[in-house]
Amino acid sequence: MKKQFAVIGLGRFGSSVCRELYRMGHEVLAIDTNEDKVNEFTSFSTHAVIADATDEKVLKNLGVRNFEHVVVAIGDNIQSSILCTLLLKELEVPQVWVKAQNNYHHKVLEKIGADQIIHPEYDMGIRIAQHLTSEKVIDYIELSDEYSIVEFFATDKIADRSIIDLDIRAKYGCTILAIKRGEDINVSPYPHDVILKNDVLILIGHKNDLKRFEDHGL
Ligand code: ADP
Repeated sequence: MKKQFAVIGLGRFGSSVCRELYRMGHEVLAIDTNEDKVNEFTSFSTHAVIADATDEKVLKNLGVRNFEHVVVAIGDNIQSSILCTLLLKELEVPQVWVKAQNNYHHKVLEKIGADQIIHPEYDMGIRIAQHLTSEKVIDYIELSDEYSIVEFFATDKIADRSIIDLDIRAKYGCTILAIKRGEDINVSPYPHDVILKNDVLILIGHKNDLKRFEDHGL
């Protein structure tokens, strides 16, 4: 389903969020103070406007309050990022996702009601480390200090066996969210679905349980 997003700040992070949302067919309003960046994004967004997102009048005139999701990707200028987030929450935008520069920034964003705080370099560092140290892990998303979602390749050890037969939840306490096979994705697979070699399993669970599954279950 097509959704509407506004992306504020077209640096490295904001620009990749904007391009990907637009590529997926969503409506994206791209905002930046820098004219060159905005011009570059006329082909990668539904509307690209030169505007200062720390100005309440500007945000109102752009109709930002009608957007369900707004991504604040103002980089180094922490003060602007905080002010913009504050204004968006005052305008009652339901989902304001903000890129944080550091822990101090994170704490302030939390206090003023940012709905999701993102640390791209930190999160990516963890994912890369997980990927580097395990041949079985394809991708890794940290949900909290304790819980993660991990993508694993199905090995010979579990190939041609059904989910019920493997009994991963009882043995390891992890749940299979989906199985990817080529372009197909089987979300919430049934107990009798059979896993094939090179399928990609997407599991959610406690980090310790996922590690046990990786070491002993695969
Ligand atoms: P990154 O680390 O993701 O590359 P940058 O700091 O390079 O982030 O980019 C942040 C972007 O946010 C820049 O393109 C900058 O012009 C834009 N920006 C900064 N302040 C504002 C503002 N008040 N309103 C809109 N855009 C802004």
